[in-house]
Amino acid sequence: MKKIMAVNAGSSSLKFQLLAMPEEITITEGIVERIGLQDAYYTIVINGDKEKQVLPVKDHAVAVDIVLNDLINKGIIKSLEEISGVGHRIVQGGGSFDKSVLIDEDVVAEITRLCDLAPLHNPAHLIGIKAFREALPNVKQVAVFDTAFHQTMSKEAYMYAVPYEWYEKYGIRKYGAHGTSHQYVALEAAKLEGKPIEDLKIVTLHLGNGASISAIKGGKCIDTSMGLTPLEGIPMGTRSGNIDPTVVEYICNKENLSVSEVLDALNKKSGYLGVSGVSNDSRDLEKCMYEGNERCKLALDIQYKRIADYIGSYYVYLGGIDVIVFTAGIGENSERCRSEVLRRISVLGVELDEEANKVRGKAQLITKPTSKIRAYLIPTNEEIVIARDTLKLISQ
Ligand code: ADP
Repeated sequence: MKKIMAVNAGSSSLKFQLLAMPEEITITEGIVERIGLQDAYYTIVINGDKEKQVLPVKDHAVAVDIVLNDLINKGIIKSLEEISGVGHRIVQGGGSFDKSVLIDEDVVAEITRLCDLAPLHNPAHLIGIKAFREALPNVKQVAVFDTAFHQTMSKEAYMYAVPYEWYEKYGIRKYGAHGTSHQYVALEAAKLEGKPIEDLKIVTLHLGNGASISAIKGGKCIDTSMGLTPLEGIPMGTRSGNIDPTVVEYICNKENLSVSEVLDALNKKSGYLGVSGVSNDSRDLEKCMYEGNERCKLALDIQYKRIADYIGSYYVYLGGIDVIVFTAGIGENSERCRSEVLRRISVLGVELDEEANKVRGKAQLITKPTSKIRAYLIPTNEEIVIARDTLKLISQ
């Protein structure tokens, strides 16, 4: 058994999970939040019990020290040598990485070069990588890219119909996101179906605060809804998803804003939040909708309609669909979202089993035996994919 640390470093947070591999058992998990502040939060979960501390955390290096020392102090590991590998989630791997890789100076340089495409995420990941490399200099580190799974898209699927030089000079194309999640739930769906993934046509709906949809044929992604950045695709908690780009110039002129300010609004003040004016959280929207708030209902309806549009389009591109998977915060928890989406695609022969759909957070078939397409709720687990890839690469 090897102990692998799966890490997701954000600009002010550090999420971690220590897994026993290849058993795929979570030993412990936690998060340091509000890094940089005197009153940062450190939470660790041991045997289902959450322990939370408020303490000063100057930077990510301090956060990593706190976590590693705590693992020893709590007797979870006896020494740092017990950690065999560290896997880092990296949001943007551009066109450079079609699989996970061992981190060396070249990989760090390439992730750095790609910061332009993911200015909020990649710099934070680099800080996380640096902190772990310094704390554990003898432990191999692995980069697992959110974009890698989507690298199998064909050129007709990933290219934008814009001047070709933009692609050649600047790499303007679709890269997608949430790849580890789409890959994980597709593999789990194949297991539940009792069929090799090579034989299946799957549409995966990762519906969290960020949300994306993938078309997966024979285990390979052939299309996905997110693009150059996570702004493309369906409306999300605070993102607009697809709009006519002309809106940007129009609002710049009318509201006297810069392009960056309008893009900021499309990323942070749109989607559920923008349409409802209430919240970016689907729970709040569902609650207010039941109380009669029309704009909350509208915010949800716009998203469900767009999800159905994507499923219809992927049905054609895949040449049929065997399985649809709902995952992430909303997909795993909102009975209404699953039922509304499936109702809107009933023309494809999907029959929801309403009783089975009364489920939350556990893998379950939610369609009737007569349904032409089978739909599942499958909880995602990006950490397992990170740990699997890390184990594979450190063992080679
Ligand atoms: P991300 O990882 O992108 O931040 P999550 O996958 O955690 O997002 O999903 C967050 C979303 O999941 C929020 O909109 C939240 O309302 C929704 N969610 C979580 N629990 C529930 C629930 N019980 N019912 C409905 N929605 C839920």
